[in-house]
Parts: sequence; C-alpha cells; structure tokens
Amino acid sequence: MDVYSNAKRILERVAEASFRAGRAEPAVLVAASKMNGYEALREAYRAGVRLFGENRVQELLAKDSLGAYEGAEKHFIGHLQKNKVKDVAGRVDLIQSVDSPELIDLISARAEHQRILIEVNIASEPQKSGVLPEELPELAARAAEKPGILLEGLMAIPPQNANVAETCRYFEKMHNLFIDIGAKKYDNVTMTILSMGMSRDFEEAIAAGANMVRVGVGIFGERDYGQPHKIL
Ligand SMILES: *Cc1c(COP(=O)(O)O)cnc(C)c1O
Repeated sequence: MDVYSNAKRILERVAEASFRAGRAEPAVLVAASKMNGYEALREAYRAGVRLFGENRVQELLAKDSLGAYEGAEKHFIGHLQKNKVKDVAGRVDLIQSVDSPELIDLISARAEHQRILIEVNIASEPQKSGVLPEELPELAARAAEKPGILLEGLMAIPPQNANVAETCRYFEKMHNLFIDIGAKKYDNVTMTILSMGMSRDFEEAIAAGANMVRVGVGIFGERDYGQPHKIL
C-alpha cells in the first residue's frame, strides 16, 4: 500500500473532475484518516493533502497530540456525542457532522469561532445520523442566531446500498438544498461548502456540485476493522 502515490492520484482525479465540471477551483480533498496512523497521514501530507477528517474524538486527539496533522486542517466528520463536544469544539477547524439543535447549543456555549457544516440525512434513512431535509431550514436558522458558530455548508453520506444512479440523485438533491439554504442569506451563514462524495463516488459528487470530498480507502487502502486503530 503506497499512501503517497494513492493520494497523488486522488488529488489528480479530484482536479480533473472539478475541471470537467467547469469549476474555477478544484474541489477540496479531505483525507478520511480513521484507523490510520501518524506515518500514513504524513505520507498523505507529503503528497499534498492538507485536510484530514476523523470520526472518533479520542483518535483525533491522540493523533493531534503526536503532531500528525501539523500544517493541515483537522475536521471532525463522525457522529458527535453530546458529551464529547467539549473535546472538539474550538479544537478542530471544521465540525462537518452537526445534526441537532442540542449540538448547536453545546458548541455555541464552548467555542468562540467554530466553523460547522450541518449533516443531512438525505435519504431520510431510519437510525442514520443527520438532520432530515425538512428540518434543515429550522436548524440552519438556529445556527445563524447562536454566537460562536459559523455555519459554512452542508455534508451528506448517501445510503450505503444505493446504486450510482440513485446516489447521483441524492447528490443533486443535496445540491438543491445547498442552493435553497444559501438563498435565505442568514447572518453568520456562508453556505460555501458542500461536502459529499467518498472513495467510490467522489467524481459523481463533484459533477453534482460538491466542492469538498472525503476519501479514505482510496488513499489509505482498505480498513481492517478486526485490528485496533493505529495511532503511530
Ligand atoms: C470513512 C469516511 C469517509 C471515507 O469513506 P471511504 O469509503 O473510506 O472513502 C467519508 N466520510 C465519512 C464521514 C467517513 O467516516
């Protein structure tokens, strides 16, 4: 497994897909680095990756204390438990997975300038993280009025079992929500980031309007869930 060449190749594919979609700027690549340790992250950094996303708070803090993200942004992209807000608010560059009024209130109480995205459960799947599409305007309005929070966009993970055509429809639905919420022009809301697309579908996501993609396996190789998460 060669993280350096994988990351180079993914960065190229992101740039090509963005160019094909007529963008002035390439979409931003977030390396989803869960379960991968310091050395793999530094290889990705050496290849040009400048943002990392983690979905477990303890793992993020452990790698951060080793300097694994040095020079790069760190994003929290996983399900955020209320009792862990104190560990991430004000300590990460972007929380991509805010999905409840309670989380907004807790982050607001803890941070001075916390950039966030709202995670949308775009297919309204039962038991999945993310706010339902119909609840999004209310949540965005709440984020807009709370101090300490800057709502910069939306994030989504379409259903795992959807085929490419279905996934593309969800991406398009997300893009429409992104445009609709942006048009409301709330204070403290920029709606500049649309984070969607992973290893298997980031090019389709970019074609549908994503300007941030989150890629794990395509950079770091398959994850072995039987092993403890690497830190080093
Ligand atoms: C792991 C993860 C990704 C990346 O998924 P891959 O299939 O490894 O590319 C993207 N988003 C979130 C929230 C993740 O947890």
